[in-house]
Amino acid sequence: MAIAAHPDDIEFMMAGTLVLLKNQGYDIHYMNLSSGNCGSIETDVQTTARIRLEEAKNSTKVLGAGFHPPICNDFEIFYGIELLRKLTAVIRKVNPSVILTHSPSDYMEDHMSTSRLAVTAAFIRGVPNFHTECPAVSNDNCAVYHALPHGLLDPLRQQVIPEIFINTTTVQPIKRQALQAHKSQQNWLEDSQKMNSYIKAMEDFSLTIGKMSGRFEHAEGWRRHLHFGFSEPAFDPLSELEKFYLKNEAYSAVD
Ligand SMILES: [Zn+2]
Repeated sequence: MAIAAHPDDIEFMMAGTLVLLKNQGYDIHYMNLSSGNCGSIETDVQTTARIRLEEAKNSTKVLGAGFHPPICNDFEIFYGIELLRKLTAVIRKVNPSVILTHSPSDYMEDHMSTSRLAVTAAFIRGVPNFHTECPAVSNDNCAVYHALPHGLLDPLRQQVIPEIFINTTTVQPIKRQALQAHKSQQNWLEDSQKMNSYIKAMEDFSLTIGKMSGRFEHAEGWRRHLHFGFSEPAFDPLSELEKFYLKNEAYSAVD
């Protein structure tokens, strides 16, 4: 299950790994916490949210993922009880063994709050006294992986080094097609973030990460969350991707 802040975040940094998991036999799920209602210089909030909902649904068709609707708006992703309850209910329904989410340190608060909400919601999936629409599920193994931040940099401009590289070269055309479903974002990203082509920006990230791996052409990078409260210590389901999976020797984590 991929949990991101805005429609198109999954496509930028996570969709390749998600599709490889699907090819491995996993059911895959897609959720953006925000409607993306502020992501336009041309249309009002309601119209923008409606357009972006359609675009996100079209993307999930390309990816072959289950779609979960947003639960709030842009710049309203706060770490608090209302969103935590809603997200925990969805996680309990899906009961994922893998969660892909944002980096804990990233260029904007919506991404960082999403990461925190996803981590806590996964942590309390099995806590019966935390009440949501959906009752607690058993604490089966669940691994949480954090994507690389936007630009591969943290907010203080430090480069973030991945622990794991996933070779996305073979699924890059699907990733491209899924990102292309977010047609409304071309003008917005050009204006707000000076990206001349959002497709090229996504490919530049995956090529840079591929180069960092020293082995793959296109790649996505991941850091696995500490297992306490989530799984057995060595539970690392991305390693099932075998030939697509590479540990980064330069990353110092305790196994
Ligand atoms: Zn975003």
